[in-house]
Amino acid sequence: ANMPTYDFVIIGGGTSGLVVANRLSENKDITVAVIEAGDSVFSNPNVTNVNGYGRAFGTNIDWAYPTEPQIYAGGGRQIMRAGKAIGGTSTINGMAYTRAQDVQIDAWEQVGNDGWNWKSLFPYFTKSEEFQIPTRNQISRGADYYITYHGENGNLKVGWPSLITNRTLLPLLDETFNQLGVPFNRDVNGGRMVGLTSHPDTVDSTENIREDAARAYYWPYQNRSNLKILTNTFANKIIWSNDTRSEATAVGVEVKNSRGVQTIYASKEVILAAGAVKSPAILELSGVGNPDILRKYNITVKVNIPTVGENLQDQTNNGINYQGLEFWLGSPTFSVLPSANQLYGSNVSNVAAYVKSSMTEYAKVVANSSNGAVSEANLLEAFQVQHDLIFKSQVPYAEIVLLPILDSFSAEYWPLLPFARGNVHIKSADPSATPAINPNFFQFSQDLDAQVDVAKFIRKAFSTNPLNDLVGDEFAPGLDNLPNDAPASEWNDWVKSNYRTNYHPVGTASMLPREKGGVVSSTLKVYGTKNVRVVDASIIPFQVCGHLTATIYAVAEKVSDAIKNRYRI
Ligand code: FAD
Repeated sequence: ANMPTYDFVIIGGGTSGLVVANRLSENKDITVAVIEAGDSVFSNPNVTNVNGYGRAFGTNIDWAYPTEPQIYAGGGRQIMRAGKAIGGTSTINGMAYTRAQDVQIDAWEQVGNDGWNWKSLFPYFTKSEEFQIPTRNQISRGADYYITYHGENGNLKVGWPSLITNRTLLPLLDETFNQLGVPFNRDVNGGRMVGLTSHPDTVDSTENIREDAARAYYWPYQNRSNLKILTNTFANKIIWSNDTRSEATAVGVEVKNSRGVQTIYASKEVILAAGAVKSPAILELSGVGNPDILRKYNITVKVNIPTVGENLQDQTNNGINYQGLEFWLGSPTFSVLPSANQLYGSNVSNVAAYVKSSMTEYAKVVANSSNGAVSEANLLEAFQVQHDLIFKSQVPYAEIVLLPILDSFSAEYWPLLPFARGNVHIKSADPSATPAINPNFFQFSQDLDAQVDVAKFIRKAFSTNPLNDLVGDEFAPGLDNLPNDAPASEWNDWVKSNYRTNYHPVGTASMLPREKGGVVSSTLKVYGTKNVRVVDASIIPFQVCGHLTATIYAVAEKVSDAIKNRYRI
């Protein structure tokens, strides 16, 4: 039969996949196919509305993956949301555009990923960005920036929603958080993230609609004859050449859609961009992973990499809600990112020492729960890096999102760098089955303690004037239900029965040297394969303090250049 062949076949037309598809198809001689399970959401109001966060949840564009029961978190399951559409999760996310602390990206190089540091990634942050200078009105409501941190000629519109929350708010927040030792940070996107800030979003400020990966990287280019997107098409697995003499060589991708099952052939590479939940599962279904797991489902081992699907890192989100005494209009954009010093004050050295003395045990627990797939020594090294970032470099330790909306004032928060390590693995040879997703939320006592400590910090902020003057009663959890001096067990119960995932999964196909448990190399090529890469959130080896898309866009831009160099295209 006359089977379709492309130079590159990309699995997943989401945040990262569309960047790579766009850049590779800039060269007219190069053909690119994108396989996407979802469809267009170009005019879906649940996507475009800048104040519509949450409206897409539970609809047909939300994968809504259930997790495994979370044994350290009360035993319940969580719903891991992810976008199923051209544009992927960028079509349903919270639109916050924040990058990372500079030293966090430097840590990638420090552990052996050559060429990955803040300085080398920075040009790709700016390459991807079309920063929209805030208007005078937006500036009066808190929008602030250093233009040297931003790109003005990239694809992705970054800026503020047309109407930011009432202009009275910022000075009051500034005065409040200064008293707690947290200063105003004019622009978190230059590598220093600590402080109170009014961060930009991925929005088209002129049209006042969401800017997602499709609007930035696909729709304006949809007529390129060398770029083909196959929508409503599900990728089952990678198909390999029969040649067993060399490294595993992908020849295409088996897909399923209304026309049945077929193979889309790739003459150069197969590129995985299905997200941190699905990319490791597709690797396993294709025979790349831990032989103990693959054998259970009669999958032939093509490449033995026991860490595929391990190293999953996400965060946990709780909220505290107050009655508002003022009426708030417009889109909230304020976040507070305190460091460990700011959060713990004089107690910080005790916390640092406690964590340090626990890390050997943490490493043992994670290694055991991976059945030895992840080595204790590698984990300990990763935890050491994390400890240094938190307590020496003083990267932000938590994010607190302030949500003054109409007559309520809420704070949602998440500690940024939990020590828990989970995993994602297939639990069936059937590609349409959701994999077992196990983030191991609150695996370690410090993860749970931090969740409580940040809640208490928020209460302190809301009882400090002038913020205190703006709010009435705390209606959830409420001081009667959960007094400040309630025993730890009550605080822990509240956290566990009210938390949700923060939807920031990373690390399941980590970029690390192979002997350190890596799945992909520093060019994002899967070890043991000749021509398979992973380019999505899976490759981020350590959680970052920014929301993820800013970093994902930059990583995808950088790997696109690496691929173009490799093929001289
Ligand atoms: P995705 O963008 O998810 O792309 C994966 C694509 O692959 C999807 O289009 C999917 O449909 C497709 N796919 C999956 N499996 C298959 C298959 N078998 N066959 C074919 N196609 C397949 N980040 C921020 O920066 N700011 C925020 O405010 C923010 N808020 C968030 C709020 C929510 C509710 C969620 C869920 C996430 C949020 N994030 C936020 C995180 C961020 O959006 C994601 O980390 C990021 O978009 C992931 O990009 P990706 O390329 O890894 O995967």
